[in-house]
Amino acid sequence: MTMPPLKRSPLLTIAEARAAVIAGARPVEGEEAVPLALSRGRILARDLASPRALPVFDHSAMDGYAIALAPDAARYTLVGRVVAGQALSARLSPGEAVRIFTGAPLPAGADAVAMQENVATENGAITLTQTLRAGDNIRRAGEDVAIGDALVPAGSVIDARHIGLAAAVGLATLPVRRKARVALVSTGDELVESGGALAPGQIYDSNRPMLAAALERPALELVDFGVLRDDRATISAFFSRVAPDFDLVITTGGASVGDEDHIAAALAVAGGSIDVARVAIRPGKPFTHGRLAGASIAILPGNPFAAFIAALLFTRPMIERALGLPASDFEPLPARAGFAQPRTRERTEFAPARIAGRDGNGTPIIERLGRGGSARLQPLIGADGLAVIAPGETPVAAGDPIGYLPFGAAFSL
Ligand code: AMP
Ligand code: MG
Repeated sequence: MTMPPLKRSPLLTIAEARAAVIAGARPVEGEEAVPLALSRGRILARDLASPRALPVFDHSAMDGYAIALAPDAARYTLVGRVVAGQALSARLSPGEAVRIFTGAPLPAGADAVAMQENVATENGAITLTQTLRAGDNIRRAGEDVAIGDALVPAGSVIDARHIGLAAAVGLATLPVRRKARVALVSTGDELVESGGALAPGQIYDSNRPMLAAALERPALELVDFGVLRDDRATISAFFSRVAPDFDLVITTGGASVGDEDHIAAALAVAGGSIDVARVAIRPGKPFTHGRLAGASIAILPGNPFAAFIAALLFTRPMIERALGLPASDFEPLPARAGFAQPRTRERTEFAPARIAGRDGNGTPIIERLGRGGSARLQPLIGADGLAVIAPGETPVAAGDPIGYLPFGAAFSL
């Protein structure tokens, strides 16, 4: 099959390509209950309402003495002791006090807790050395959360805060969206799994382990399909087989329009549609996106740095969309070039970079690492982000405004 439409298609901007990807990925349907310990990083499927009040009962906020206040009295008779985990059945009468510890239930009849620092003790009695008002040092049942209160909104990415609060109200499980299923595959006759022996002309598959690591999230179920040969029928059969069972399919290699680049053609043979064929980025121009049988399909370039960039720009919104989350913006931070270089005419350029310093306004000055090129991963090792250089007619001079994309923000979900 020849592919003139792909060759002629215009370069989409990053924003256009991201919009197409977002429009093309469908939120997963279905939910499951997972134990709290397995819920981190999953997406809450429904608004969570509290089955309990918090605090559960009136209790002491301090180590001290629970007191049934008597008018104008400073001296109180000690009638008992209560620690956290116990409950005192007796009711205090005005003029009486009990020794109490933080978290212990407030005895019936008690109006306040005096901190132990503000009390003089003697045998069988205490004397207040500070004024005490009704309600002091008491946490009241329901003052934080009432039964039925909204605790966590649907769509939250569950983290330690949500898990702590859910445990506090007694929940053992949380309702979460089912995991988005992601199929990952490399294509290329030259590729060998790392650890194996290389025959002449062969290289190790670096993209698949790299992408698996970049994509790994609790809300995704990633299935590794290994390496496919550069054969259109094989790749087309692969698409037909996995598309019905997966939400996202991510391939690398064979994305451009050379004779051996079969992926988009194979997707077309399988009956898929293509909505992004090329993007105005360097590296990563061959990024292609399409759909087949409900699956959103990302075809990433084979060159490892290009695959890295395309994954960073386009798989994140695919994943967010599949998980029903709002797509995050692509927003490089304002920065200044600490280097000079030519500028591409139509493509936004990405380069491994790090913050080398700050100018007088605190704006980061960016150092570019490596000699460029779409294949090199090594310069990324010393980088803490990417320089983002807009296209234009004039070269980049030191001090020019550029963008900076820190890795933390770029990769976290
Ligand atoms: P392609 O996009 O298939 O034309 O590949 C472009 C370049 O990337 C070639 O040098 C390939 O050998 C290399 N390449 C393709 N896939 C991978 C991969 N999974 N890991 C490492 N290099 C790759
Ligand atoms: Mg190839």
